[in-house]
Amino acid sequence: MVSALGKSAPSAEQPQHRALLAGTRPLTAHIAVYLFVTVPLLALIVAVPLTWGHSLTWLDVILAVAWYTVTCLGVTVGFHRYFTHRSFKATRPLRVALAVAGSMAVQGPILHWVADHRRHHAFSDRDGDPHSPWAYGTSPAALARGFWHAHLGWILDRNVTNQHRFAPDLLADRDLRRVDRLFWLWTVITLAGPALIGGLVTWSWWGALTAFVWAGLLRVVLLHHIAWSVNSVCHLIGDRPFASRDKSGNVWPLAILSMGESWHNLHHADPTCARHGVRPGQIDISARLIWIFERLGWATDVRWPTPDRLDRLSAAAGPES
Ligand SMILES: [Zn+2]
Ligand SMILES: [Zn+2]
Repeated sequence: MVSALGKSAPSAEQPQHRALLAGTRPLTAHIAVYLFVTVPLLALIVAVPLTWGHSLTWLDVILAVAWYTVTCLGVTVGFHRYFTHRSFKATRPLRVALAVAGSMAVQGPILHWVADHRRHHAFSDRDGDPHSPWAYGTSPAALARGFWHAHLGWILDRNVTNQHRFAPDLLADRDLRRVDRLFWLWTVITLAGPALIGGLVTWSWWGALTAFVWAGLLRVVLLHHIAWSVNSVCHLIGDRPFASRDKSGNVWPLAILSMGESWHNLHHADPTCARHGVRPGQIDISARLIWIFERLGWATDVRWPTPDRLDRLSAAAGPES
């Protein structure tokens, strides 16, 4: 059992964290982060009532689902299971495609994302974790504050995780450094792409606008909150049938929208495993995509779960918890 962290979240002031962090974000990048978090939400508050009912078309729905699926899988299969945890090996074209698709989820450039997430696993729910809901203690007030910190607050922290310590393998790859630098371009494409398609198919500015609102803004905001919920909700509640040294839980209601990422207890118990939903009925769309990539010959050396290992992890967790 892991005890709660100290009173304050990790900061660059604490000497033991200096090596974990690499300075602070430049002001322009920091303002951009605030804009990414606030502008889509504000725009939605204005735009959704305007377009709700009269203008949501099947085209908008199809575009929103398609862009959500591709960008979500870019993060779950690409950024998370492949780049962060190396659950499988990928051909070079698949490697670059996954990096681009994940970047279009607008959750930060790939090197930032991977470095932050590896730090999360190295210190999960302990001092040094960038986004633990237990960072401020265990009282109801501390947990409310911790939930906010784990869900969104940590993103507004200006300290940057040290990529040389946590992602040297990705830093050494020229293609990935290029994808990382072009984060602004992937952001433009992910927002303008649906608008362009909507405008061309309906041949109208209104069609472009509604596609932008639903398949651009709304899709990015929903995906943000689902991804952040894995950090916040899945470290607060959920079943813990496998032994992990943190408070990660399996939260079934998020399984479909998170594409399998909410089977988070198994993930922390066995981080390199390519499948997170390992029990019958635990839907894991990301694992199914990796299976398809394997069939196509694009993914090899996939680390599928083995019954022996699952039994060991489950036995180590002790009786039903
Ligand atoms: Zn976690
Ligand atoms: Zn992980």
